[in-house]
Amino acid sequence: MAGGYMGKVLFVNLTNGTLRDEPLDDGLRRDFIGGYGLGARILFSQQKANVDPLGADSIAGFLTGPLTGTPALSGSRYVVVGKSPLTGGWGDANSGGYFGPQLKFAGYDGVFFTGISEKPVYVYLNEGKAELRDASNLWGKDTFETEDTLKSEHGQNIEIACIGPAGEGISLISAVMNNKGRAAGRSGVGAIMGSKKLKAIVASGQMNVPLADETRAKELRTKYMAELLPVAQMFRAMGTSALTAASAHSGDSPVKNWGGVGVVDFPNVDPIAAAAIMERQEKKYACWHCPIGCGGHMKEGTGEYKYEAGAHKPEYETLCMFGSNCLNNNVESIIKVNDICNRYGLDTISTGATVAFAIECYENGIISKSDTDGIEMTWGNHQSIVAMTEKIAKREGFGEILADGVRVASSKIGNDSDLYAIHIQGQELPAHDPKLGYHYATTYRMDATPGRHTQGSEGLAPPDLLPKFDRKSYSGRAEAHRIGSNFNHVMNAAGLCMFMYISLPSASVLTDFMSAVTGWDVTTEELIKTGERIANIRHSFNLREGLNPIEFKVPDRSLGEPAQKEGPVAGVTVDESTMVQEYLKAMDWDSKSARPSKEKLLELGLADVAGELWP
Ligand code: SF4
Repeated sequence: MAGGYMGKVLFVNLTNGTLRDEPLDDGLRRDFIGGYGLGARILFSQQKANVDPLGADSIAGFLTGPLTGTPALSGSRYVVVGKSPLTGGWGDANSGGYFGPQLKFAGYDGVFFTGISEKPVYVYLNEGKAELRDASNLWGKDTFETEDTLKSEHGQNIEIACIGPAGEGISLISAVMNNKGRAAGRSGVGAIMGSKKLKAIVASGQMNVPLADETRAKELRTKYMAELLPVAQMFRAMGTSALTAASAHSGDSPVKNWGGVGVVDFPNVDPIAAAAIMERQEKKYACWHCPIGCGGHMKEGTGEYKYEAGAHKPEYETLCMFGSNCLNNNVESIIKVNDICNRYGLDTISTGATVAFAIECYENGIISKSDTDGIEMTWGNHQSIVAMTEKIAKREGFGEILADGVRVASSKIGNDSDLYAIHIQGQELPAHDPKLGYHYATTYRMDATPGRHTQGSEGLAPPDLLPKFDRKSYSGRAEAHRIGSNFNHVMNAAGLCMFMYISLPSASVLTDFMSAVTGWDVTTEELIKTGERIANIRHSFNLREGLNPIEFKVPDRSLGEPAQKEGPVAGVTVDESTMVQEYLKAMDWDSKSARPSKEKLLELGLADVAGELWP
């Protein structure tokens, strides 16, 4: 029996209220690790193709990895998986904080839900036992109130993953929240929970995660903490807000709904840069046992924008999507919208993108004050940005039009508003521009969760992992992309935080911790192969749903079509086609259908997947 696992997952049928534990097969663990690897394996087998993601037959999974809740550095993550109601394909979103480790201390590696409950419920996990409980008194409460109510009932030593009113209202950009500000934000996973009338998962207990070699795992923790790169110090000092100023002017941040240039359209970024954030920070926040601690709690907002002390510090993504992307440099308005999103349970990336979309529609006369409930949606108008975010959170007035993200909003608004809807397959793009970091172009299209910036590849990988390639060339980087993204899949599936992974000089951190915790004699090569298996089953999930990423429309602005005339990425038009075609070849996926070869699927042990894709 491998270490790192509690050894069982829970299956809950919300329609009939039945719960059953199932042991985790050892082969399944080694082949798919955990997290979204295990989630994709189970959903591919147990969820039929083309189910309604918000219907009774869809399955939502909450999974940890073998390194979650262990001495491994930053083993704090859990992931929510399901068919995304936003994209119609594979969906996942992960979060840190304390819920993931506590899920294991409650005795479970993961929980899967199917069906729809008649009334709101939550599942209570405690010391290896599970029960469904009535959540009628929680329905309608925001995520803070939900946590407080559940803790008053079950004590302070529980951890909670829950949805707020946005998820209850099945907003397609809603998140699953924990610790009042850590978000599994992407893919619309909050809506899946809401559709099932599942308000929360409560994890309680003090069970030990078995470790194959505890001494070795602790030694590794000490060793790798001493090797942290300077980037870790940057995260420790300022969190991701450290990126805000440099990214706004380097070309990394989208500006003016991806239509602007930072140095031209948003020259005064300092009011939302790290210094402005840090002077408003009350204290640091760290996820479970994380030695970096990139998070923070803010002081009370007492000025134009009121928020309680303890509001979570906005991440770079939030500062950019509500900042440069809306031409807004009012920092307290961004802390406020971050707090609104955390309380109501909204993805800040998609919400900020949707507000920017509304502003551009307004500025171009597609919508007017009579549509927007009298709110003047103009660039940089922070009062309007806050007001519209509140409306989105409550599905109120024009917020009802915007509450499902830019694709749905543009289909409702019409009048060529789709020109300003920056998304791939319904998922709003995050705050990193492929014109500066070419690897994002391939990732945004080809990862099973389109428009995802955290999928590693050749852009975000420990320096010793990748073969050499020319970072200025579009051609010749596919093998590095393949290795980098596949290894990243294992890092995610194992339950580690990406920031720790990119703060170390060697990929051996993952291999070493996996060996010490599980007891498997794993090599980096095996893990890359495992990541390839995970990549193929996530990708095959989408193909089975009829989604071919080669056919996705990628926003011209993100690729520089036409090229910008000014700024750091002036003249750049990303040769996405070359990168994608070379990546398809490296993965042994067909250049037109994107279908993995039968030989590749069989080589990876995915005979059932091959049977479905090659009938
Ligand atoms: S680096 Fe930041 S996000 Fe990652 S585990 Fe540590 S505190 Fe959490």
